[in-house]
Formats: sequence, C-alpha cells, structure tokens
Amino acid sequence: MKSLKDMGKDELTQLKAELEKSFEDAKGKGLKLDMSRGKPSVSQLDMVMDIMDTLNSSSKLLTEGGVDCRNYGVLDGIPEAKKLMADIMEVSPDQVIVNGNASLNIMYDTVARSMTHGVLGSTPWAKLDKVKFLCPVPGYDRHFAITELFGIEMINVPMTVNGPDMDMVEELVTKDESIKGIWCVPKYSNPQGITYSDETVKRFARLKPAAKDFRIFWDNAYAIHHLYDNDQATLLDIIGECEKAGNPDMVYEFASTSKVSFAGSGISAVAASKANLDYIRKFMTIQTIGHDKINQLRHVRYFKDINGVMAHMKRHADIMRPKFEAVIKVLENELGGLEIGSWLAPKGGYFISFEAMNGCAKDIIAKCKEAGIVMTNAGATYPYGKDPFDSNIRIAPSFPTPDEMQQAAVLFTLCVKLVSVNKLLKS
Ligand code: PMP
Repeated sequence: MKSLKDMGKDELTQLKAELEKSFEDAKGKGLKLDMSRGKPSVSQLDMVMDIMDTLNSSSKLLTEGGVDCRNYGVLDGIPEAKKLMADIMEVSPDQVIVNGNASLNIMYDTVARSMTHGVLGSTPWAKLDKVKFLCPVPGYDRHFAITELFGIEMINVPMTVNGPDMDMVEELVTKDESIKGIWCVPKYSNPQGITYSDETVKRFARLKPAAKDFRIFWDNAYAIHHLYDNDQATLLDIIGECEKAGNPDMVYEFASTSKVSFAGSGISAVAASKANLDYIRKFMTIQTIGHDKINQLRHVRYFKDINGVMAHMKRHADIMRPKFEAVIKVLENELGGLEIGSWLAPKGGYFISFEAMNGCAKDIIAKCKEAGIVMTNAGATYPYGKDPFDSNIRIAPSFPTPDEMQQAAVLFTLCVKLVSVNKLLKS
C-alpha cells in the first residue's frame, strides 16, 4: 500500500472523507468491547473450573510431609507449592517463598519494606533525599504506580528488541547512587512481548551499581505463557547469572499463577538469594502467620507438576493464539506499508504494543471510545501516565472472542488511519 506520507493534500482530503464515512458506519453498529486490561477470557476461566473439585470436605488436607493445611504453620509456602513455582520460574525450590494470591502484592511489599527498613541493613530508602528507579518503556502501569506512590523518581529507559537499552542502564546505575531499582518484565514483556536476550540478562547480572542496595525487580509474570508449541522464547536464569557474576543478592524474581488458574485467586512466589529470602522471612513472621495453604495444596493437587502446568498452558495458548493472530493480520492488511504505525508480533504473553505516529495515541484511543472500544489509556505504559511521544497503545486481545477481536481490530485500524490523516493534513 502507498505510504500516507507520500500522499498530497488532495489525496489525503479525499481519503479523510472516505474514512469518516466508514467511521460513522462502524459507530452505527453499536459495538461494545473492552480491550483495556489483560484479563483472561471467560473460556479460559471455564477451562480451569474443575480445580474447584480438587478438594472437598472428604479431602485429606495434609501436605506430603504431613502438615495439616487447615491449621496455622509453614510461613513461606508448602514444599510441593515451592517446587511447582520453582519449576515455573526455572529456579530451585530453596530459592522460593510462596505467598498469597498475587505477585503484585509481593512487589508492593518489597518496595514498601525497602522504604521503611532498607535492604539487608541499608538505610531505609524513605530516609534518603532521593530514590530513583529505572523504568524500561513502554512498561507495566501497575509497576509504575507502586514506585510513584512511594515518591520514587522514575527514569524512562527505552526498550529494544533485546530488552532495555543496556548501555543506558549500565551508565546510570554505575554513576548514580540514588538509583535503587529497575522494573523488568523479562519474558514476553508487557506490553511488547519482548524476551530479554542472553546478552541482556548477562549484562544485568554483571551490573556494578553505585548503590549497594540496588535491586532488579524481575517480574517473570509470563514465564510459561507461550502462544506457540514450536517457537518458544527462552530466558536465562537471572539468579544463577547474578551468582556467577558475584552479585548474588542483586535480584528478586516474581511470578504467579494468575494467568494459569484464576486471575487474582492463584498462588504467587518470589525467588531470590538465601540472604534476601531470610530478610523477607524476618518481616513475613510479623506480617502474617502464613498464607493460604489450602489454595497452595489445591494448585499442587490439580496441576500435579510442571508437566501438568505446561499441558494446561497449551490449552490457554489454543484460546489466545487465534486472537493474537487476528489482530496481527488486521494490522498487516489495513496498515501495512502506510507508514503510520508499527508493531511486533509477540510469541507469548498477553499484549500487543502498537506505536502510532507521534502525537496520535490519545486521539486514536478517544476515537476508539467513541466507536465503543475501550482501550488502555494513552500514556499508561509510561511512568506518571506520560508518554513523551504520545505514540504507544497497548492492545489486550485476551478478553474478547476471536470474532469480536477481529471486528475491534478493524475498527482500531480505522481510527489509526483517520487520526493519522488528520495529523498529516495539519502538518
Ligand atoms: N506483572 C505483570 C507484568 C502483569 O502484566 C500482571 C497482570 N497484568 C501482573 C504482574 C499481575 O500479577 P498478579 O495477579 O500475580 O498480581
């Protein structure tokens, strides 16, 4: 297709009139779709309903080691749940603490604890004049919301196809002692679906931060969320790499089964060095007598082991793949060659990231809303909700059906074209 940038004013004006007509027609269809959050679809949730039958009133609620899950006891997770979460994260069970229903909660607690009590004996971050975090962008809005809440200054670091710009990360952490952390979604990243290359992981592990209490927040939320059987991303074990590089305590890794079993009613875990885990446990003993062991047991009895989890994830992929492919196909068909947007075709995860022409994202999302499609707010993928280019849009294809997704994608591309034509006519 001809690039819109090569079109003259008359051609663009004519195209604008056609697009406006199509837009009014589409609006008339009264579509109502929510593509704003990465929620599993009803069919994905239905698929796992039988987890509820795993335990009933005649079940023996004893762990393999004989602990009665109905009672208090076992602070940091039943051993079989540690094993399951360890296998998901590709670490060893003694590097894992199993927590409650959501990994975001652990991430919040980890930042909060560092603010009030420091990191392994360091000065509490709240007592420092300035605390900063690096934020690979585009990234996950809820990460940024945590650091914003605690008054931590966030610095944007651009993503590349291999992960964050490591030249920038290395330079900043080496020279600035007030940089205490970085948010990472290393596999099938939210929103671009990028997996960090081996070289990126190794460079992370070899960082020489000015701050001794610098930590990598490695949110491996999509560790096993592949779309394809024969084309799966692999990620180096950051904890092992940090050990090898002489930085054993520099990373916390997080994961959960929120998008494996039930979103918000799964089990979550943190993996780290022994020193970090011991420090976390010290606070946990005050915070709780223990998390929900019955839910941990339910998950272990249902999935049995990592093979059970992976077989289940294939069924998720069968539901997700057609929706991702529908979006990518529409983007290619409708926008290919027009030079008004770019995207990657993820091999896993929950999102597709769309880069519109600078200064167009807010208007595109407003147009979509007018036509009945709710998208994630423009700017949400950047700290403080401010996309300096007003260009990134996160598409969450998981919740609608493939058919709805296809219709929504067509309407989305129409809005992209319309807003871009308007922009070009004004420039
Ligand atoms: N991390 C990332 C990168 C996510 O995309 C999400 C869900 N959108 C979460 C964490 C939330 O996980 P949990 O339900 O375990 O808090």
